[in-house]
Amino acid sequence: MSSEPPLHPTSGLPLAGHPLVARHGSATRTSVRVGDQFVGAGTFTLIAGPCAVETPEQVAAACEAAVAAGATMLRGDLYKHRSSPYSFQGLGREGVEIVAEQRRRSGLPWVAEVLDPAHLEVVADVVDVLRVGARNMQNFELLKECAKSGKPVMLKRGLAATIEEWLLAAEYVADSGSLDIILCERGIRTFEPSTRNTLDLSAVPVVQARSHLPVIVDPSHGTGSRNLVAPMALAAVAAGADGVMIDVHADPASARCDGPQALLPDEIVALGAKLSELGRWMGRTRVCA
Ligand code: PEP
Ligand code: MN
Repeated sequence: MSSEPPLHPTSGLPLAGHPLVARHGSATRTSVRVGDQFVGAGTFTLIAGPCAVETPEQVAAACEAAVAAGATMLRGDLYKHRSSPYSFQGLGREGVEIVAEQRRRSGLPWVAEVLDPAHLEVVADVVDVLRVGARNMQNFELLKECAKSGKPVMLKRGLAATIEEWLLAAEYVADSGSLDIILCERGIRTFEPSTRNTLDLSAVPVVQARSHLPVIVDPSHGTGSRNLVAPMALAAVAAGADGVMIDVHADPASARCDGPQALLPDEIVALGAKLSELGRWMGRTRVCA
């Protein structure tokens, strides 16, 4: 009997670890196509917008600032995965028209979280990148359904997931037929209470060495504090991230979700300019609106 591991049926790669998302030898890193743009090696993508879709005016103000900052993708969730059942859970179906309007107006792709396979039908016409949140990183049935949707999947790192577990979760998406996967580092839980999470920027070069997939950073959820978002976003570029995703709110005090970490319009515009400058200095082509 051979001691060789069995082979993956379609790729022919050994079925050990995460063969489909692994970076084999010096193989180049892949880019994920979203509309007419690419997220991946050599580029830097800014994704920005509100944490949650609340009202047409709130979404419009955040998106206007995101576009002015040079964002080429917008974010804003219809479904929120909250730790408390009493916190705002998102507008769900009621928010679809708000997203549709901003997507039409900006012409930019929309990134939003799905919590359940049933949400895929609700967001089908308005969401371009399906985000699987930290709390669902190992919800494998959800990952399989997202993979089959034909849309790119953004996979956030779990609250306490190792990089290996994160890549294995990505392998579920790949094994279900889609390599259009964008990994997102969003901080992990450690003993340190000074920040909402501990943003693991070393995960960026570690993942890029082990996997060909693009990896972006979310400094908003990674830190939980407005004043920490810009320094960590710039550090993410320096660490080699393929992009950042940032929360924006024009009136954070009234936000129904994550106000303390949202950048104000003028702050995201100022940060967008610095990200471009640093990205250029590092030899990256900024994906610009
Ligand atoms: C979010 O991006 O709004 C979010 C809920 O993030 P996470 O899943 O990383 O907590
Ligand atoms: Mn949030």
